[in-house]
Amino acid sequence: MYTEPRGPHANTGPGREARELIQRCVHCGFCLEACPTYRVLGDERDGPRGRIYLIKQMVEGGSTDAARQHLDRCLTCRACEPACPSGVQYGRLLEIGREMVEDDRPAGERLTRRLLLRILTSPRVFAVLLGIGRAVRPVLPGGLAATIPPGAHATAWPTARHARRMAVLDGCVQAAIAPGINAAAARVLDRLGISLVRVPDAACCGALAHHLGDKARALDAAQRTLNACTVALDAGCEAVVSTATGCGVMVKDYGQLLRSSPALAAKAHRVATATRDISEAIDAVSLARLCPGTIASPRIAFQSPCTLQHGQRLAGRVESLLEAVGYRLAPVEDAEQCCGSAGGHSILKPALARELRARKLAALLDREPAAIATANVGCLAHLGATSPVPVRHWIELVDAALATDQRHAESRPIG
Ligand code: SF4
Ligand code: SF4
Repeated sequence: MYTEPRGPHANTGPGREARELIQRCVHCGFCLEACPTYRVLGDERDGPRGRIYLIKQMVEGGSTDAARQHLDRCLTCRACEPACPSGVQYGRLLEIGREMVEDDRPAGERLTRRLLLRILTSPRVFAVLLGIGRAVRPVLPGGLAATIPPGAHATAWPTARHARRMAVLDGCVQAAIAPGINAAAARVLDRLGISLVRVPDAACCGALAHHLGDKARALDAAQRTLNACTVALDAGCEAVVSTATGCGVMVKDYGQLLRSSPALAAKAHRVATATRDISEAIDAVSLARLCPGTIASPRIAFQSPCTLQHGQRLAGRVESLLEAVGYRLAPVEDAEQCCGSAGGHSILKPALARELRARKLAALLDREPAAIATANVGCLAHLGATSPVPVRHWIELVDAALATDQRHAESRPIG
């Protein structure tokens, strides 16, 4: 796709980068059927090819309301990237496009986004509001009540006793919604001879701000997380682990995000290359040795978050770990499609998010699994709001399998 350099972005760095990325698109349309928003809405401008065209128009003449609306509907799921034979880096192009539309965003929308960012990236504020929501949940209408995740308790964290240590990110909302996830990861790694320690002062990785096109806040959060992770690595941790795939993909991208900062580029590269999704910190053979999985265990369905399979390109890894401890996995149709959570998307575009969730749940529940496993707290809360079966992080299911006496494996607790 040829782009004529004109307008306010013609000679800017992002404008030039966008032109290079757009050039690779040959209009073939192979990406369309991979795109969840195109499938639901059927509008070319709500698919990757149309959005690339809208970004091209912005590079040539500035942003428009239409461009902003169609880019806002994009889930950043990146399912279009593996479908593209020309290797168009759609995710990077979208980042540039989103920054271009921000300046012309109406004040009301900007305020809503700032408020959302403030609540979701401040663990204390979020925990207080969630506590209030849980307290009034019984008197709320069913639809609204379902959006408030039920109460959950923190579980025991093993004492750090191994020479091998890894550091784990707490995240923003995960500690309030599902405080047992990181503790479960710590117990599983402890059995494998690795102590998991928290990264203090690394509240928000910047993923949500990045997703919402707020570059300044994303960079600020990234810098704080970068400093905290550097301290952990300097103290002897061999890796930084994330149990939320949305955070993991962001931290792994720090090298790219901060590449032009002379002061931070080397540090960002170090932290990015030391970052692992929790599934990369565990190998299936060692896990199987702890739990041979020879007794029939419940059938579950795994929802592979977009940030795991498309963002981090780790499709199939979690599935092999779940099978290593004996779970039987139900096949899931359209497994590459987004569940609709997508950062703040489920709040900012609720109707679209509900439709995507209904489609995803229908696919996940098709073979009547006893539970749904996922790898990202946003997906967990979004699917859990209407799922008739429990939705858990996969590491909690692995932890439960390891903790259950093999003689009673059939009754593993997964609820
Ligand atoms: S990132 Fe996802 S929603 Fe956005 S264009 Fe690509 S496939 Fe469609
Ligand atoms: S598949 Fe790739 S080259 Fe083809 S239209 Fe989509 S982005 Fe462009």
